[in-house]
Amino acid sequence: MRGKGLRYAVVVLVAVLLLSMGAGSVSADTVTGVPGKYSKEINYLISENIIQGYPDGDFHGDDKVTRAQAAVMVGRMLGLPGEKRSTDFPDVDKGLYASGYIQSAKDKGIITGFPEGDYRPNKSMTRAEMAYLIVKALRLEAKSDVTFTDIPKSSKLYDYVNKLSTAGISEGFPSGEYKPDRIISRTEFSLFVARGMNKEFKVSSGTEEPMEVLEKQIVTADFLNVRNGAGSNNQIVGKIYTGDTVSVYKKEGSWYYISSDNIKGYVHSAYLMDKPSKTYKVAIDPGHGERDPGASANGIVEKELVLDVSKKTREYLENAGMDVVMTRQSDWYPSLSGRVAIAERNNATEFVSIHANAASEGANGVETFYYASGMSSREFNSYKLAKFINERLYKEMDMTDRGVKNGNFHVIRETSLTAVLTEIGFLTNKEDAGKLKTQHYREAAARAIALGVMDYYNWKE
Ligand SMILES: [Zn+2]
Repeated sequence: MRGKGLRYAVVVLVAVLLLSMGAGSVSADTVTGVPGKYSKEINYLISENIIQGYPDGDFHGDDKVTRAQAAVMVGRMLGLPGEKRSTDFPDVDKGLYASGYIQSAKDKGIITGFPEGDYRPNKSMTRAEMAYLIVKALRLEAKSDVTFTDIPKSSKLYDYVNKLSTAGISEGFPSGEYKPDRIISRTEFSLFVARGMNKEFKVSSGTEEPMEVLEKQIVTADFLNVRNGAGSNNQIVGKIYTGDTVSVYKKEGSWYYISSDNIKGYVHSAYLMDKPSKTYKVAIDPGHGERDPGASANGIVEKELVLDVSKKTREYLENAGMDVVMTRQSDWYPSLSGRVAIAERNNATEFVSIHANAASEGANGVETFYYASGMSSREFNSYKLAKFINERLYKEMDMTDRGVKNGNFHVIRETSLTAVLTEIGFLTNKEDAGKLKTQHYREAAARAIALGVMDYYNWKE
């Protein structure tokens, strides 16, 4: 922060002198106080003779911008006549350095002054005033459905800020706010003007003052509504889906302000989980295949069902940033030792075999197997992975929880990997089979398995 007050008044006076001089060879490289990330924009404005540095060699990016200075910059941007002359405003004297530009802008209908008839040239400019000024100056018309959490859609200002944002000149802050009453800084003002003059500098998201990302999380719900405020009574601005990664910027109780791709807004935190800090590689093994159909009942063939669910599981995992190895991707039969070898040679660290059950008609529900003959950490990890998957699975499938079991199967026994075999329901049970026929429950099974794997990674970390 810099001290304002008297020093500021002196700087304004000096700036007045500078504004009427040529730019010479001044560039952002030779003035200090230019925020490094914006040096291209500032350099551009200096080269276009719109702004200059101060005699002390500093850009003073944090300084306020007066309404007189704003009129000069916008006047120069539009190439309006800037000769000092008398004005329609009683408080803008002919002798004021900005008088010509102020009157020219008034003539063009770009500025109107206050309802009392004055212009208040020494008043600091707000972001709301800047929106009115730039939209009128550039005759911006295009609108979009962008919204701001601090500007009601019904207000006159919304129209202007929306147009400013649609034009890529300002998208507001990552918090979703525009902060209309905030005094604009020299840097902000310069960025607005540069973006207005040159398409190269346009913004597509809130880049003016990036908020810090608190953490990365992953969506666990089928889909999650993104709202323009913290609470379910707020308007829905978009949707995000299972496995989508979100950046969390702030927390308001159980509501988080997040961004995900191009969507920004509030979501309920109950449907988020921590994103594992590393990319893990998991092997997905669709049971059976080709000459071995597995179980068949109620019109479902196990090898077909589990291949479908496995592919969906891979999608969820990959969407969440994990690597996936498939032991088969079509209707063929890798041997049991071949499946283990595929996983191990591809450096997977976990192995999840997906099956469906068959028994008498009354048997129903989900169960997941691990293999343990002792107390090795691999066996304990396998037990935990089975627990996490099964816990997600019976809830997502609305099925009976048959629990996790120690099972003596080749693919989870003859391996160095953390390995489980999950049974996603009974084909021989009418109710289970009815669900497993639907895309809805196949998606649910895949989502549950993927999220169970992610739960396991979070537990390991
Ligand atoms: Zn099977």
